[in-house]
Amino acid sequence: MTLPDGSELALPLLERAGAQPGPTLALLAGVHGDEYEGVQAIHEVMRTLDPARLIGTILAVPVCNVPAYLAATRCSPLDGANLARVFPGDPYGTATERIAHVVTEHVIKRADFLLDLHSAGIAYSMPTLVGYAHEETALGWTAREAALAFGAPVVWGHPPDPTATGRTVSTAQALGVPWLYTEAPGAGRVQPSDLACFTRGIRNLLHFLEMLPGDPEPGPGPLHLLGGGNLDRTPRAGVSGYFVSDVDLLAQVQVGQRLGRILDPWGDTVEEIIASRAGRVVMLRGLPRVFAGDGICLITGELPAD
Ligand SMILES: [Zn+2]
Repeated sequence: MTLPDGSELALPLLERAGAQPGPTLALLAGVHGDEYEGVQAIHEVMRTLDPARLIGTILAVPVCNVPAYLAATRCSPLDGANLARVFPGDPYGTATERIAHVVTEHVIKRADFLLDLHSAGIAYSMPTLVGYAHEETALGWTAREAALAFGAPVVWGHPPDPTATGRTVSTAQALGVPWLYTEAPGAGRVQPSDLACFTRGIRNLLHFLEMLPGDPEPGPGPLHLLGGGNLDRTPRAGVSGYFVSDVDLLAQVQVGQRLGRILDPWGDTVEEIIASRAGRVVMLRGLPRVFAGDGICLITGELPAD
């Protein structure tokens, strides 16, 4: 695609074919332009992988949303769009819709399994986790086993949500491609522990998919969350101001509990954010400056013990 200055918008695509034929694993990162852990994890895995031991093919796009990556923003500066809301894209659409179309056609449609590496970016904070489709189908069972094999400290299952469209993973789901995605604290930095978790997780996924010999390296016994993960439906700030949180990530909260406050420039509280449900805090606003309408917090449930 040609930009107004005559330069071409192109995406980096890495392809590593193993010595033997087998499944294709697609790795995506940088769908949001201010999330870095996955970018680095893809490079680390691709640089250290021995193709002689690899069975099948890895397709990786370490930076999907190139314009947002250049601006270090979640959404694209070219059209304001969130790449994670416009999949499967449109070849005749805006810049972001065209990127989604290219990723769908050249990566997701070729994949037998999709891993989309996100983190919470600059504005939010989330625990280091792997998310999957929690449903009683062959695709759901594969995804759940893969999520547990990934080895993250938190595993988050999402029951089917027909309103959560436009994602890489909703496009994969519609194509029958099992998928996982990740989150991490983010904040525009890469913590060594998150990088280690993601690189180990990708290698564990390769073992799980029998694309590398050997078994996944087990992670810690995970906290297993269950519930909707749609960040579009979080409690939102009613006013603009400075957000101060009362709770930590993964705190267990009760209905009616105060989660935080929004202060005006004089330090007075102008809004209290109250929990409308009980559960675990899985996303918190990280950037204190908020505008009215910004997402503040997401609370989810836990998988009931058998
Ligand atoms: Zn993201």
